[in-house]
Amino acid sequence: MADDIPFDKNFDLVPDRVQEVAPGVRAVVANNPGPFTFKGTMSYIIGRGKVAILDPGPADDAHIAALLDAVRGETVTHIFVTHTHRDHSPAVPKVKAATGAKVYAQGPHRLARPLHIGETRRLDASADMDFRPDVALADGETVSGDGWTLEAVTTPGHTSNHMAFAFKEANLLFSGDHVMAWSTTIVAPPDGAMSDYMASLHKLARRTEQIYLPGHGAPVREAPRFVEFCIRHREGRESSVLHRLAKGAADIPTLVKAIYIGLDPRLAGAAGLSVLAHLEDLVARGRVATDGPPSIGATYRLAEAPLADG
Ligand SMILES: [Zn+2]
Repeated sequence: MADDIPFDKNFDLVPDRVQEVAPGVRAVVANNPGPFTFKGTMSYIIGRGKVAILDPGPADDAHIAALLDAVRGETVTHIFVTHTHRDHSPAVPKVKAATGAKVYAQGPHRLARPLHIGETRRLDASADMDFRPDVALADGETVSGDGWTLEAVTTPGHTSNHMAFAFKEANLLFSGDHVMAWSTTIVAPPDGAMSDYMASLHKLARRTEQIYLPGHGAPVREAPRFVEFCIRHREGRESSVLHRLAKGAADIPTLVKAIYIGLDPRLAGAAGLSVLAHLEDLVARGRVATDGPPSIGATYRLAEAPLADG
């Protein structure tokens, strides 16, 4: 897909076995590999003795047992959730019941914008609609435990409630699915929004953490530089959309075919939604026109030359 981003697809963790991945951070990868999840969801354990668990993972009893086994003899004081997709949060109720820990996150699952008339949510099954945090965190809030402090960093785009967490003592960032080393993230309306996603990338580009521990795959190294690559990649994709539309009006399948060369067919639906995310943003900015609200089935064309700012 994108050869402009220096992806890292190395990964040597074994499912449901605990391993230290950074000083003070252990990981247990769930056994849910797939085109959207790479080798599986990363659940992290922060600290020693009195610990926090970040992203307990999918509703998979073997994974939950492995995670609880990894903290046997320790006390879980906090549970953090980056976002409410079914590969990250559905294990929360069982882990919470087993540990008594409080759950911290941005909030319940919600859409980035209201549904259009007649619109259905294509990735509906991916959302965990039941999730509710005990404590809703705002951007910049910090939560401390025994030997660790996490700063909440709102990073909407992949989902509206996506939150990254900066581990202050270790100068690293848990980036969830917002920034990952193995692939770009999926930005799928109406749950996600491209304008939010780009703003969240720019927000991370201004931060100093050099290492990100993502929701899937290996750590992101030289993270600020990697984030710049992600920004340029999306800008390039936007240019491709505009370039194709300059040749004439087109629907989303035509744009996907023109832009995503060699796409894994399992990702065609997601690619269509990513293009829709770009089109929503371009329509909002007056660069592209369509009839009615931007939708998956609509036809798009370049807007007439935009009026100069008054
Ligand atoms: Zn995920």
